Amino acid sequence: MAVDLKNLRAEFRAIYNGEPRFFRAPGRVNLIGEHTDYNGGFVLPMAIEHETTVAAAARADRKIRVRSVNLNEDGEIDLNAPEQKMRGSWLDFIEGVARILERQNIKLRGADLLIASEVPNGAGLSSSAALEISVGLALTEISGQTVDRVALALSGQKAEHEFVGAKVGIMDQFISALGRKGHALLIDCRNLEAEQVPFSTKDVAIAICNSNVKHKLASSEYNTRRAECERGVELLKQFLPEITQLRDVSIDNFEKYESNLPDVIRKRCRHVVTENARTLRAAEALKQNNLEDFGGLMQHSHASLRDDYEVSCRELDLLVEIAADCKGVLGARMTGGGFGGSTVNLVRRENLGKFIERVPAQYYNQTQIKADVYVSNPADGAKEVKSSEM
Ligand code: ADP
Ligand code: MG
Repeated sequence: MAVDLKNLRAEFRAIYNGEPRFFRAPGRVNLIGEHTDYNGGFVLPMAIEHETTVAAAARADRKIRVRSVNLNEDGEIDLNAPEQKMRGSWLDFIEGVARILERQNIKLRGADLLIASEVPNGAGLSSSAALEISVGLALTEISGQTVDRVALALSGQKAEHEFVGAKVGIMDQFISALGRKGHALLIDCRNLEAEQVPFSTKDVAIAICNSNVKHKLASSEYNTRRAECERGVELLKQFLPEITQLRDVSIDNFEKYESNLPDVIRKRCRHVVTENARTLRAAEALKQNNLEDFGGLMQHSHASLRDDYEVSCRELDLLVEIAADCKGVLGARMTGGGFGGSTVNLVRRENLGKFIERVPAQYYNQTQIKADVYVSNPADGAKEVKSSEM
């Protein structure tokens, strides 16, 4: 499941006439912990085997010349020229990462970059974080510098905020920079502490189903949900003065005071409070290799996102229902912000073949939309690929 490095090197030589080093960073899927990040809560993503690869060589000047194989487009950025933001193209990601790294006193050399990715764009697998983290690592290393992994993740996030104009959380960059093969990563989004959680996929597979729909509601509803959560905190503060985010509210306390909340706010808060608890329990279940419990928590997460948080849609619900009817499915849920995107499914290996046949076929029957299925083990975060590994 990797970009062919020999081809990439040949293409690099043909374009830039030099010898590259190779850097990779993965996409990700969130196993559980949805809409908890901006409430200071917990998320549990894993890095996937689909990666973005950057072939890179330093230049004598301060120019970054870059080509994307996927988009068949190139561009140029001069680090000695004034910053350029929000062009509305993928160059914003490249320039953003470079400029933010430099602000952290990582002096960069110019670079020739050739980028090839197998992380599908816009499928909810975070091709953008894979791009930022692979490019950030490449630019740093070929400049003879080093960057701390957390700082690398933060620079990717900051690049999206400032140069792309997307107010994203830290999860995607964090897991792309810090993922570990055979592990999921439990991230505390309040203090950015992270714990590697062993995840054995000997008997089960992670299958991601892209619904291939994206409803327009997503960004306006996202802002509404954030505001509803903040309102919930304000109201609950009357009874729980010590809280600052929904993360601080236990299920017990929520149940004690929820009758004081208006109906919609109560539902939104209930999702976040219970989802945080589910995510912590899911991490425990993984540690004990209790995949039945883990799958059950995924199922509850979906119901909560559908009924309380109301960010699912017909297509995601359908994918989850079809999956739940398939033999060997331990859990299925929407993953990502919602209103389209993908589901994540925990499927027994011996039933995976049938699952891959059946889910897209039934989905197509009912929607006339093709779903894509990606299967992946938990993979490593960003790293250099040495020529000896080619
Ligand atoms: P997601 O991160 O869920 O895949 P985003 O909209 O956040 O979706 O990021 C997708 C954008 O990232 C693309 O529109 C493009 O600008 C940029 N991008 C991702 N991968 C590549 C690539 N291989 N080459 C160039 N740009 C890319
Ligand atoms: Mg993205």
